[in-house]
Formats: sequence, structure tokens, C-alpha cells
Amino acid sequence: MRQNRMILPTLREVPKEAEVISHKLMLRAGLVRQLAAGVYTYLPLGLRVLKKVENIVREEMNKSGAQELMMSVLQPAEVWHNTGRWDDYGPELVRLKDRHDRDFVLGPTHEEVITALIKDEINSYKKLPINVYQIQTKFRDERRPRFGLMRGREFLMKDAYSFHTSWESLNETYDQMYKTYNSIFSRLGLNFRPVEANAGAIGGSGRNHEFMVLADVGEDTIATCTHCDYAANLEQATAHLEYAAAGVAPSADAPVFEKIHTPNTKTIDQLVSSLGVEASSFFKTLLYIIDGKTVAVVVRGDHEVNELKLKGLFDAKSVELADDATIERVTGAPTGFIGPVGLKGVEVIVDEAIANAGAGFAGANERDYHLQNVVPSRDFAAGRVADVRNVLEGDTCPKCKEGKIEFYRGIECGHIFELGTKYSVPVGATYLDENQKAQTMIMGCYGIGVSRIMSAVLEQSNDDNGIIWPMPIAPFQVHLIPVNVKDETQVKVAEQLYARLQQQGVEVLLDDRDERAGVKFKDSDLIGLPVRVTVGKKAEEGIVEFKVRKTGESQELTLEQAFEEIL
Ligand code: ATP
Ligand code: MG
Ligand code: MG
Ligand code: MG
Repeated sequence: MRQNRMILPTLREVPKEAEVISHKLMLRAGLVRQLAAGVYTYLPLGLRVLKKVENIVREEMNKSGAQELMMSVLQPAEVWHNTGRWDDYGPELVRLKDRHDRDFVLGPTHEEVITALIKDEINSYKKLPINVYQIQTKFRDERRPRFGLMRGREFLMKDAYSFHTSWESLNETYDQMYKTYNSIFSRLGLNFRPVEANAGAIGGSGRNHEFMVLADVGEDTIATCTHCDYAANLEQATAHLEYAAAGVAPSADAPVFEKIHTPNTKTIDQLVSSLGVEASSFFKTLLYIIDGKTVAVVVRGDHEVNELKLKGLFDAKSVELADDATIERVTGAPTGFIGPVGLKGVEVIVDEAIANAGAGFAGANERDYHLQNVVPSRDFAAGRVADVRNVLEGDTCPKCKEGKIEFYRGIECGHIFELGTKYSVPVGATYLDENQKAQTMIMGCYGIGVSRIMSAVLEQSNDDNGIIWPMPIAPFQVHLIPVNVKDETQVKVAEQLYARLQQQGVEVLLDDRDERAGVKFKDSDLIGLPVRVTVGKKAEEGIVEFKVRKTGESQELTLEQAFEEIL
């Protein structure tokens, strides 16, 4: 492309509104312009980078066997009512009305829409598992949009959703996505780290990892161990700390679900005896009631989970199990494994402080999050809650018990979840199994912040003079600069090289502007293309300067040598 005609407005001054380096650079190098808070126009140079990131994500997703589709941004409110998120999502959800006064939202994420689609289109176990994805604009009315593309209100996300007949199958796809994400972030040339996380607003009952790009301006804190491979986000590390205090070892293994045949089990009391456990040892297990029917008993080896924190839950002896309740015992559950205890319509006597305590209930410190319709009992030692504190640097690693916890800052650029049945139950996404019996689909979901990645790359790849694009996502590979466009020989040599490189599929930006050399070189450093070829006074002898942006190394080469060096 010819720079003279391109919309590539570079700035010498650092724009006042930009606080962090990536935001400054994307404005200065003419990648984006702000239209409103958290809303941006991608200029040609910025768009080329976005497309490159998008394509790396797409290639790796396709390689993993996922299929691309595209869902609408505009979504009818009904699908959000079905899952309860019309009420739960809060002010981040952009709501609007059509001319007939019907409610709509601009999708912040697409679980509701995809689950409704799969419910309609996939009916048999023979069509499962399936993993579908899109690369689509998302809207979230962030309280504090900032740092350029880092936290936008309109941004580009790759979101994938998988559907399964079993947790085993979900585990396989999750492992595959975990690998795929590692490939994607490696190809992007980023210094990143996958960390154990907890589910947040999207929810879910299984494993959950965030892909953190390491950067001081990152809004997230990552806790790692000086001795072992432990890495978790702050919330999850805090939950681990509490498990450790309660004598429970964290485990990264997938939970194993085993159906237990329990005829005549009507109450939790009966369940306890049918499982053959004494009431007291029952406190050593965690019990979750999923969708009011399924009881998951999470057995964590011989470890004693803090009794007080669980006692209230098991005071709920009068909980009635539905006639068709499925009882599942879960072993090897990773720490932080929490069933979304949708106790809708079930009266449970449990102390409110349990829900607040957090220990063993990562994320449960929000009322009605894991336990709904919870009636607090009075005889709970209220003081327990005071024990709960955040994990700190220097704490003993909850995994190896040898190393110490260290903190790093990270930018969350990807997030993968095992959702379980959180969305398939309310939406009614079922399939017919081998025996023509309807079963609920088990789901996973996998997000990548495509536009946020642009900010993350800039945070990691820059120097005092500007951007240093990693080759795979550079907007152009070569910056070709005839120093003086009034010099016929220079122009001729540059034009020849330009045509020849393009023929070979090399992406070249030709600085054909009539500007002083100093201006051209300053802009070139700022824009940061990996290779610069300068055509100057030695053009007559067929010699050009070849310079690598990253190392600053430069050499004089013949045209032929330069050509070969680039290819
Ligand atoms: P955050 O904690 O930063 O608010 P999130 O946990 O709400 O992110 P997810 O729901 O997990 O985000 O969405 C998947 C991915 O989308 C995130 O990992 C992130 O890379 C990206 N993302 C989320 N919110 C934004 C935003 N406001 N601007 C740009 N990218 C975003
Ligand atoms: Mg968010
Ligand atoms: Mg997050
Ligand atoms: Mg997230």
C-alpha cells in the first residue's frame, strides 16, 4: 500500500486522554480513533492488525475441529428472560426497544442464543459433541471503559460454545481448547500464562481458566508459586488458600461423575444412609443439588472440610428430592469446583454466613448465587466470617506447600469454562440418547478478546520510539522508504522492489510521501513494521539499507540480497 494516500495520521504529541502505553501508541501510530467512551473506529493500519489476530484465532479454531457461524448482535429479550439473565446481568447489558416497544439487547455474550439454536437444530446423540464459534462484535456498558481497546464498550470477541452428552466428552473438548488457546497466544508472540479462575457472571460448574497476558497495567492479579507450576487468579487463589486451611489439596483433575442408584431416597437424611456414610463423616464431603433434581456429592479424599462452614447446609435434612432425582457422586473434583446449586423452589435451612464465608464456596459470597431461597438459621457462630482474607504474597503455595506465592499483573485475553447444564437446563436443550430418552446437553464455552489482544500486544512490544510488531500480526511486513521522492533513481528502485515483493506475497508499505527523511524515519519507528528497507543515495549502485526494527541492526545489501533476506 502507498502511504501517501493512506489514512495514517501519526501524532508526535502524546494524547492527554491516554494513560497507558498501548493506548498512547495506538493513537499515535494511527491505528484507531475514539468515537465515544469505549467505542472506536479502526483505521486502515489498525484494521489490518485486527484481521491478522482474527485469522490466527480462526485458523487455530478450525484446526481444532470447531465450526464457524455468526449470530446476531441484536437479541430479543425473551431468550434472556429464559435464563434469568435479563434480571441478573445488571447495567452492563445494553437494552433497547424496537418501534413496537419490544425489548431487545445488544449481545454481551451469546450463550442464550446459541443454546436456543442448538436446542432446535440438534436432537440426537449422534450429532454430538459439537463445537461452534463466531468472531463477532460484543456490547457491554462497562462502568469504566478505559485504556483504549483494553476495556471497550463495543469490542470484538471470539466466542465458542460446545455441546456434549457427557462430562467426559466436555473434558476432552475443554482440553483441546486449552491446547488451542496455547497455540493461539504463542503464535501471537505474547508472553502469557493460563491460570485457574472462578466463573464470574457466566457461571458454570466445572473447570475454568483465564489466559493472562503478563503486563504491569493488567487489571488482574495472578498468584503463582516460586516452586511449582501453580497459577491462579486472585479470587481462585484465595479460595485455594481457604481449602488449604481446611486441609483440602487443590487438584487440577477433572471431576469424575458416577451415577449412584438410590431407590427410595427421598430426603438428604436417607441419602446419607444410602451412601453408607455416618452423619459425621458426611461433613467431609461437599454436597450440591443441581437443578433441584441432581445431587452431587463431592468427595475430597479423607480431607476434612471445615465442618462449621458446611454444617448449616446439612442441617437441611428435610430437603425433599424429586422422584426422578439422579444422584451422582463426584470424585477428584478440582478445588473450586462448585455446582450451580439451583435450589429453585426448595426450602433449605442454611446459615447465611455460609454463603458469605466463601471458603469452599468460591464465588458464593453473593447472596442467592449458589444457594437460592436460603433461609438463614440463627444458631451459627457469626464470627467465622472474619477468618476469611485474600491470599497475600509470601503465603505458602496451596498446591505444593513448599513454594511461596508471588503476584503478577495480567490482562485477561482469553477465558474458557466448563459450563455444565447452567444454560441447557433453563433453555431445555436436550437430545435423545441411544434409548430414545431425552437427556440434558452438557456445555462448555470459550472466549477470546480479539480487540483487547491488540492492546495487550502493544503493552509487551514497544520501545521509546514506538511499536515493535511481532511478525505474525504486523500490519505490513516491510516498510519500504525511498528517502527522497524527487530523486528519480531512488523512486525507480523503490518501485521495482515494491512490485517484486508484492508479487511474492509480501505485504509492503511504501512511504511515497514527499517528506523530510527525519519525519519518515520517526514515523517508521513509531509504526513499527518488522523490516525497514531504505532506498537512499546508494540506489544508483543498487544498494539499499536493510534494518530490523526489533534489534535495530542494519546492513547495506544489494537489491538481490535484500530481496532474499525478506523472503
Ligand atoms: P473482564 O474481567 O476484563 O471484565 P470478563 O471476564 O468480563 O472480562 P469474559 O466474559 O470472560 O470477560 O469474556 C471473554 C473475553 O472477552 C475476556 O477474556 C476478554 O479478553 C474479552 N473482554 C471482556 N470484556 C471486554 C471489554 N470490555 N473490552 C474488550 N475485551 C473484553
Ligand atoms: Mg467483565
Ligand atoms: Mg474477568
Ligand atoms: Mg472472564
